[in-house]
Amino acid sequence: LIGVYGNEIKMPVYVVGGFVRDLLLNIPNYDIDVVVEGNGIEFAKYVGKQLDAIVVPYEKFYTATLVFKDGFKIDVATARTEYYEKPGELPQVDVSTIKKDLYRRDFTINAMAIKLNPNEFGVLYDFFNCQKDLEEGIIRILHNLSFIEDPTRMIRAVRFESRYNFKIEEHTLEILKRNLEANYLERVSGARIRQEIEKILEERQPLIAIRRLAELGILKHIFPKTYYTPTMDEKLERVFRFLPLVKQRYQNISDFYAISTVLLEFYDKETLDFMRNRYGYPKKFIESLKFTENMMLPLKSMIESQLSFSDIYKVIGKGNPYIFIHLSAYLDDEGQQYLLRYIDAILNTKLEKVTGKYVMEKFNLKSGPVINEILETLYAMKLDNPN
Ligand code: ATP
Repeated sequence: LIGVYGNEIKMPVYVVGGFVRDLLLNIPNYDIDVVVEGNGIEFAKYVGKQLDAIVVPYEKFYTATLVFKDGFKIDVATARTEYYEKPGELPQVDVSTIKKDLYRRDFTINAMAIKLNPNEFGVLYDFFNCQKDLEEGIIRILHNLSFIEDPTRMIRAVRFESRYNFKIEEHTLEILKRNLEANYLERVSGARIRQEIEKILEERQPLIAIRRLAELGILKHIFPKTYYTPTMDEKLERVFRFLPLVKQRYQNISDFYAISTVLLEFYDKETLDFMRNRYGYPKKFIESLKFTENMMLPLKSMIESQLSFSDIYKVIGKGNPYIFIHLSAYLDDEGQQYLLRYIDAILNTKLEKVTGKYVMEKFNLKSGPVINEILETLYAMKLDNPN
């Protein structure tokens, strides 16, 4: 139907990128990116009117999103060539044709288009031997300046590699390493790097990708003081095992912060300040990190010897999810289970009728710090004996 509308307003229309890649791989993909040779916004408005969809235009980028009544979305772009004024910055956009549009994409596997206009419906446009790379499982850049244009592609390469179990092609790898060593990744904003890491963390096997980031030296350019040792790998493995359980109990847990508890361990203050600035960690997060780091050994042995909840409470109080995640990196399955029981006790224990006022009346006390101490003691007791 999209193609029919393309004919009606005389514009060639293609579906491109990840959708085509996954179609050829026989993998479902509901992210539809459409490219129009002509004005993409005008096209989106026309389709929106015919199909009663909302059009959200982004004038500056010549793109628009069509949002249908059932929530289904299609992104529409204008075939374009992008000029990067400076590496790592958002591109300047100029109108151009489908071939050039495909040429500016990240990797060959993402650089194919399928025509949608009725006269050529379903025809694959493959200018750069992309299909062959896809069949052979190869991640290849389209030109030698690719990683300089957008250094986050180094991270994307690893993501696609581990998602499909593909291999980064040799020449691409060479250029990647060269550009990495020339510190191009450092020119990109922390927000964009973080976004790409977050996409990796949404994958089914994030640890495999993180290992590969470490192996290729990319991780060092993101977490400059992190040494990816076998111990570090084990810690992350435990964190990934524990993380879903924490997410069942707390909302809005960031996977990026979760792995950062381990990756940022033992950083000096100066580098930590730099990391906070670059990746936007909240101050509270960094404080928890330092706390857990300092208390790790006693806490680990308290949990392993299954000390009472009230004793643990004296050290971490109600804690917070990132403290628990960080702890989980040091605990075997049994330790993690005990920690989880502690978390559940914290989340389910309340001093219902017992308030400051109640304590003052019952013990005939005036208000003061002692009231709080009594409340805390009562709470800790209740953790051990819920009834
Ligand atoms: P996913 O399946 O994870 O959504 P995707 O390939 O659809 O993967 P998107 O980030 O949604 O990834 O991007 C859509 C398309 O836009 C890609 O297929 C690729 O062609 C192009 N693209 C995205 N990011 C870049 C980039 N940094 N550089 C060049 N091309 C990109």
